Amino acid sequence: MSEKKGADRRDRKSGSPPRRGRIDLRGLTLTEIEQFVSSLGEPRYRADQIAAWVFTRGVRGFEEMTDLPRALRERLARDAKIARTEVIERELSAIDGTEKFLLEYNDTARIEAVVLRDGDRTTGCISTQVGCRWGCSFCATGTMGLKRNLTAAEIVEQILALRRNIAPERLGNIVFMGMGEPLDNYDDTMKAIVIANAPWGLEIGARRITISTAGVVPGILRLAEEDLQLNLAISLNAPVQRLRAEIMPIAGKYPLNELIDALAKYTKRRGRRITIEYVLLQDINDSPEMASMLADLADKLPCSINVICYNETKKAAYAPPTDKTVERFLALLRARCPTVVRRISRGSDIAAGCGQLCADDGQSR
Ligand code: SAH
Ligand code: SF4
Repeated sequence: MSEKKGADRRDRKSGSPPRRGRIDLRGLTLTEIEQFVSSLGEPRYRADQIAAWVFTRGVRGFEEMTDLPRALRERLARDAKIARTEVIERELSAIDGTEKFLLEYNDTARIEAVVLRDGDRTTGCISTQVGCRWGCSFCATGTMGLKRNLTAAEIVEQILALRRNIAPERLGNIVFMGMGEPLDNYDDTMKAIVIANAPWGLEIGARRITISTAGVVPGILRLAEEDLQLNLAISLNAPVQRLRAEIMPIAGKYPLNELIDALAKYTKRRGRRITIEYVLLQDINDSPEMASMLADLADKLPCSINVICYNETKKAAYAPPTDKTVERFLALLRARCPTVVRRISRGSDIAAGCGQLCADDGQSR
């Protein structure tokens, strides 16, 4: 499933760098970089210099670290590495400025990452896995199956790749709504978030970081105990177990009642609202009864609801509802729920919308 997991995995909490293989500096915390430089017999301040090169400047090679002595650069090149991506394709939406990047890692694994623009707010939609194991029936990523997890270093590099390519525009927000299920790759996703959030890292405020999950219950309970004030979004998509299990196989493993219990615990523990995401599929989950059951469910949780129309994908046999049906659904919800937002699909002309990301054979959709 995952390349070089043994050598490259670190325990986020213990903070000890791996013993074998070349350490990927893009996936280390400042403390771990300090431990690494001290294991090379170098003074502590070298760690600050290296962190600045790897995270703030986002360099792609050791030769660029011009304030380090040449002997140290050569030593680093031998003992360490820096995750890299190549931009294979870059597409800009003529409709709304959404930009989609097809990125390739060293082992030729490919993922898609998206830049969303809204006024002066720029958001990176980030992938955590190559593919996804859950195979939701409406989602293009699901058709790929799971190829492998991304490492923390690779996730950080993905954010840096977007930053490099859109500079001087600032990427101030990130949402883990790209390919994959972030809570199935918990440790590496959280470590990437710690690095993205840190003052010595990418300096993205925790409140500007959103994790989206299809409902991995143990992951939600674990997330409730984290120190960071992240945003959590739940891809609900059906307010009843039977329908949910039909369109989202994950509901077979983590049934709706267990998911709602976990979310109630999460919101209580964090004292924060969550976001419920609901993709409208024509004649499947767009009836007034569904709206009413969704409102019942939302009554139980401090939440806002984002409703989005189905984006067409090549393999799924669904259609988006008509505008009239969408408006009827929203009106019913709004009568009962305080915060309901109709999300407009972005980048639909370049297949960069939710659920359209798929990098199989480098082909979208
Ligand atoms: N696996 C996580 C993270 C990926 S986010 C999750 O599912 O939450 C992908 C988002 O796009 C999810 O909210 C999903 O419900 C939505 N989505 C998937 N396919 C879609 C489609 N064809 N049209 C619109 N949204 C879709
Ligand atoms: Fe995976 Fe999320 Fe797509 Fe479902 S919606 S297949 S969980 S990426």
